[in-house]
Amino acid sequence: VSVPQLVIGPAAARGDHPALIDGRTGQTLTYAQLAHMVDRLAAGLAEAGLRPGDVLALFSPNTLLYPVVFHAALAAGATVTTVNALATEKDLTTQLSDSGAKLLVTVSPFLDRAMAAAAHVQEILVCDTAEGHRSVQELMATTAPAPAVVLDPATALAVLPYSSGTTGVAKGVMLTHRNLVANIAQTQQVVKYDPADRVLAVLPFFHIYGLTVLMNMALSKGATLVVLPRFDLVEFLTAMADQKVSRAFVAPPIVLALAKHPLVDQYDLSALQVVFSGAAPLDGDLAQACAARLGCLVQQGYGMTELSPVSHAQSHGDTRVKPGTVGPLIPNTLARVVDVATGDDLGVGEPGELWIKGPQVMQGYLGRREDTDATVDADGWLHTGDVGLVDADGDWFIVDRVKELIKYKGYQVPPAELEAVLLGHPQIADAAVVAGHDADGEEIPHAFVAAAPGAFLTAQDVKDYVAERVAPYKRVRAVTFVDAIPKSASGKILRKDLRAQL
Ligand code: ATP
Ligand code: MG
Repeated sequence: VSVPQLVIGPAAARGDHPALIDGRTGQTLTYAQLAHMVDRLAAGLAEAGLRPGDVLALFSPNTLLYPVVFHAALAAGATVTTVNALATEKDLTTQLSDSGAKLLVTVSPFLDRAMAAAAHVQEILVCDTAEGHRSVQELMATTAPAPAVVLDPATALAVLPYSSGTTGVAKGVMLTHRNLVANIAQTQQVVKYDPADRVLAVLPFFHIYGLTVLMNMALSKGATLVVLPRFDLVEFLTAMADQKVSRAFVAPPIVLALAKHPLVDQYDLSALQVVFSGAAPLDGDLAQACAARLGCLVQQGYGMTELSPVSHAQSHGDTRVKPGTVGPLIPNTLARVVDVATGDDLGVGEPGELWIKGPQVMQGYLGRREDTDATVDADGWLHTGDVGLVDADGDWFIVDRVKELIKYKGYQVPPAELEAVLLGHPQIADAAVVAGHDADGEEIPHAFVAAAPGAFLTAQDVKDYVAERVAPYKRVRAVTFVDAIPKSASGKILRKDLRAQL
C-alpha cells in the first residue's frame, strides 16, 4: 500500500472524530474533513501541474494543514521534501535545487525566506493567504476528480527529508512508500495508539520523528493530534492540560523542562500516561526525575532519518524501569554491534558501532553515491555511526556518536555521559561537552555550561562536581559559561557550533 492509503484510507469512516486540534486556538479538523481535503488538494495539485515522480517542498511549522498537503502530494504520486522551519534562505535554496522541487508550499510568515528561493520552483503556494500567491484552499476548490495514481511502493519515493545536519551537511534521505509503511507497522507493534489518545505534536512534522511517529502513526490509528507550531513552555503546558493530552512525544530538552521547571506544578497533567523521548540522548536519572514528578511513564526510542526513523523503542506495555535504555529492537529489525577498528562482531555488554538491517533502511542519499556506499554496505546493513550496546535482556543503550567521542590520552570519553552528570547539578540549567584542546593540542573534554538563574558557580566548581562522579580520565578539563546551549529544531545539541566557538 501507499502511505496515504494506509494513513488517510480509513479516515473518511472515522467521521466527526477529531484528527487534529490546534493546541493554541482549539480549532479542529475531523477525520472526515481530513479525508475530503486530501482528496480535493490531490486533484488541485495535479491541476497545478504536479505529476507522479515530481518533488513538492513543504516549508511550514506544524499546522492543521501540514498533513493535508503532505498526503495530497503523495496521493498525486509526488515526493515531499520536508524543509526545516528554521531554514535560512540559503538552506532553503540549497534544498530546493538539490531535491529538484517543482512546487513550494509554505505559510505567509515564511514568504520572506521562500521568495529568495523562488527562481528554483515553478510556483510558491501558501497554506493561508498572501497577495500574489495561490492558496491551497483555492486549489481545493477544483471539481476535477483526484488523479488515479498507480505507484510501486518499493521504488516510489514518498519523502525526501534532509538529515538534521548535526555532524555535517544535511543530506537528502530517499525513503520509499514501503520504507514508511514498514516503519509505521513495525513501530505500531510497540507504540500502540488508540483512538481515545490525545497526542501532543510539538515536535516538528518536517523531521522524520514527528512525521512518522506522530503524524502518520497517530492518524493511521484514529488518535487525535494536538498541534503546536513550536515549543513554548507555557503554551505546551496549557495545551497538555486543556486538551487532556495522554501521550507526549518529545526530545530531551522538553524532558529537561518537565523535570526541572517550577511552572510545571501549576498545571493539571493527570491525563498524561506516557512521555516518549527520542532524537538525542536522554539520561536515566533525568527520565526518572520527570516520571516521578509527573506520575507517568518516561520512555525512549532510537532512530535516525536513514531508518524512516525507528529501530528501537520501549513498549508502552512495558512498565519495567531500566534507566537510560532505548528499549529492544522493533519487530522485523536486525542489529549488530561492530568493533570499528577490527570489524568484528561484539557480544552482550560490549559497546561498538550499531548496524541495522530491515525494511526501514533508506534507499540512499540523493545524489551522493559515495556517502550512500559508506553508510549502507553491500549486504544492506546501515552503519549508524552511533555507539551502542545490548544487555542480556535484549535492551539497548546508545552511548554517543562514534565521531563525537573525545579521545583523551588514548581513552574514549562520551560527551553525553558528562552532559548527564552536569545536568544533575542543581545550579546548572543546561550543558554540553565537546572535544576542546589543551596547550599541547591534545583533545580534552570541554564543558559549556548554562547556569540556572541566580546561580553562583565557578569553573572550578563545575570541574570538581564532575571529578567526584566520573573516572579520572573522563574529568572535565575546561569550562565555558554561556547563556544557552545551541540546539537544533529536533532537540539536538549543536556541538559543531560550540567547537567553532573554541
Ligand atoms: P546529520 O546526520 O545530518 O549529522 P543527525 O544525525 O542529527 O544529523 P537525524 O537523523 O535527525 O540527524 O538524527 C539521528 C541521530 O540522532 C542518531 O544517529 C543518533 O546520534 C541521535 N539519536 C536519536 N535518538 C537517540 C537516542 N534515543 N539516544 C541517543 N541518540 C539518539
Ligand atoms: Mg545522522
